[in-house]
Amino acid sequence: MTVHNLGYPRIGSKRELKFALEAYWKGEKTLTDLAAQARDIRIQNLETQMAAGIDLLPINDFAYYDQVLNMSTLLGVIPKRFRQDTFDPDVAFRMARGRAPSDDGHGGCPGHENRGQSKADYAGAMKKWFDTNYHYIVPELEADTGFAITDTRLFDEINEATTQLKGVSARQLKPVLLGPVTYLYLAENKGIDKPPLTRLPELLVVYQHLLNRLADLGIEWVQIDEPILGLELTADWQAALTTAYEALSETPVKLLLTTYFETLGNNLAGVCDLPVAGLHYDGLRGQAQLDEVISQWPADKVLSLGMVDGRNVWKTDLTAAAAQLSAAQAKFGDRLWIAPSCSLLHVPVNLEVEEHLPPELKNYLAFARQKLDEIRLLADLLNEKVDETALQNNQKAVAERAQSSLIHDATVQTRMAQLDRIALDRPAPYAKRAKAQKPKFELPLFPTTTIGSFPQTQEIRQIRRQFKQGDLSEASYVKAMQTQIHDVIERQERIGLDVMVHGEPERNDMVEYFGEQLDGFAFTRFGWVQSYGSRCVKPPIIFGDVSRPMPMTVRWSEYAQSQTDKPMKGMLTGAVTILQWSFVRNDQPRETTCNQIALTLRDEVQDLENAGIDIIQIDEAALREGLPLKQSDWADYLRWAVNSFRMTTSGVQNDTQIHTHMCYSEFNDIIAAVARMDADVITIETSKSQMKLLDAFVDFDYPNEIGPGVYDIHSPNIPSVQQMVDLIQKAAQNIPAERLWVNPDCGLKTRGWKETEPALINMVNAAKVLRETLVS
Ligand code: GLN
Ligand code: ZN
Repeated sequence: MTVHNLGYPRIGSKRELKFALEAYWKGEKTLTDLAAQARDIRIQNLETQMAAGIDLLPINDFAYYDQVLNMSTLLGVIPKRFRQDTFDPDVAFRMARGRAPSDDGHGGCPGHENRGQSKADYAGAMKKWFDTNYHYIVPELEADTGFAITDTRLFDEINEATTQLKGVSARQLKPVLLGPVTYLYLAENKGIDKPPLTRLPELLVVYQHLLNRLADLGIEWVQIDEPILGLELTADWQAALTTAYEALSETPVKLLLTTYFETLGNNLAGVCDLPVAGLHYDGLRGQAQLDEVISQWPADKVLSLGMVDGRNVWKTDLTAAAAQLSAAQAKFGDRLWIAPSCSLLHVPVNLEVEEHLPPELKNYLAFARQKLDEIRLLADLLNEKVDETALQNNQKAVAERAQSSLIHDATVQTRMAQLDRIALDRPAPYAKRAKAQKPKFELPLFPTTTIGSFPQTQEIRQIRRQFKQGDLSEASYVKAMQTQIHDVIERQERIGLDVMVHGEPERNDMVEYFGEQLDGFAFTRFGWVQSYGSRCVKPPIIFGDVSRPMPMTVRWSEYAQSQTDKPMKGMLTGAVTILQWSFVRNDQPRETTCNQIALTLRDEVQDLENAGIDIIQIDEAALREGLPLKQSDWADYLRWAVNSFRMTTSGVQNDTQIHTHMCYSEFNDIIAAVARMDADVITIETSKSQMKLLDAFVDFDYPNEIGPGVYDIHSPNIPSVQQMVDLIQKAAQNIPAERLWVNPDCGLKTRGWKETEPALINMVNAAKVLRETLVS
């Protein structure tokens, strides 16, 4: 029974790759230094996997920036603006980053990075990799894109492994390639209106070359990832898979067709007919179809099953996993392979380095390094030669977690049992609430506001750091933060904004800030996961029932309101966004965990209202990205996601104004759900599309107030008064003026005051111009 891995994290256990990359980009290190660091990581990863007893080792799972970008350079898909005579890694960096000088500042959404802005050499677009928090660089197909093997790093890495590692032959290496059909699915056609699929025949020729060349190097198995198999594909894409694998099966290598993150749905029948040597299937996310896959996949081929979660941090229940595999073992024997569910890229590297986690919690967790041991143990268990102590430890941890008082909180559960007593509707509908709110706030037409954060200066970061390290007393910290809050209020008054914010100086991150104050959350020290390029995130771990020991934001908002006569907007992160950007417990439905968080936020909203905060914004930056991969699952997700928002907000008075903010602009798919959230005001990102993306709101006849962002905060440019007037006028053609707000398209934490202040002054002036022109 072969034990194999689908990919190992490449950032290094202490983010060595990140630091090496950034030093190189800043000019502090040479390409040779960077290459040496990268080689160390690759070799170490392979050694770690060998030591853990992995038989077939993934190769080409390393990337300086992104594995989809690597595929593009390998296939010669290099945008014209970056093409040069010979390939070097800098070409790939330019494709990913434009000519951005360095890589800093981030506000929760990847758009916040200062990626190359200039017209001539702008960076490639970045998109989320399926439903993960990893982002890839979108391949660009241009009229003159000719596929040809261009970047030879893959072959070099095979040589590197066989020469540097004792006793390792090419047959033990399994190159990981993104399959041609998924590659085209993810690609964007630029400047031609042929559908990407028309490129398939030419692309297959290059894939054939590639596979032949791998065979020449002694490679036996190639892992070919086609994650689009988890989507609900149309017939043309299904047919493309048949065409592709018929062509690729002519090469001498054995193909392990690899899918993950979902069931195969109605792609299963077609997949079973593909002429490949093996299939890898995600037995966790694909649980619902696992038995069907086992019974339908041809018995004379390899079936690799992933029962160890590559998307989450929990220990596997090995006995339960083995039981689920017994039918497969009976049918496939040695042709049953054991693997993690997907690449381990999506989990932190090594639990062992976490010295500060509560030991009990640590005993319930497994990161990438520990998951290697789990797949080995699982195979050994099936082969009846398992290390008994290791198995007993596993069983003990699983049993303890199910009973643990660290995880299960009776008070939370009592409250959850009464969830259906909470009315999800506000006391009155929007129209009536608006009538109560208008006289109370006395806002002008086109009220101006910002999204919450103001520039996070060096000074602010230093105060937080000193407090965290214990170099600053609580009292001095509060005082220093109040000074910062006072300062941003003064600035906002000078600028002339109508609805104030406190600026969020106390927040490191919009999710971490809340997680740190909630029970049921834990934070690692090194639990980094690659988000894109050198950017890593350290998601909180939601391990248990969630509760709020104390108000989380009230003291800051209350102080802020005391400093101004203008309305002060309270600022919270919504339950769905907190859930989406965390590792979530797997012992209850996500919906339940989301509702637990929503209940704590509901209490927070109540406390803010009681403290005299009459406008409260709940950010749901990640609502859209939580959409399941299969469209048929969307309605259920949107039901509970929207209800959690309504649960958070439905307790307030009619004249308390609820805002929400979403950092994106593609609303077509979810506009009805967004309307059901029934926020009084929604602020969104629209400036980059010149308001085109407001169409979803217009077509849907969105009933409440909207603040379509008029100031693109992702760029240091200062928009002129006229530019912003034009944008709002465009919006006002379709949305009644009395329902329009004027605001930037996201928080300002990554910007400097130098550009923020003049931009906001222009924004306020634009609102004034509009009031005069539209009213007269
Ligand atoms: N209130 C947050 C801020 O202004 C919102 C951030 C976000 O949407 N990514 O920073
Ligand atoms: Zn935003």
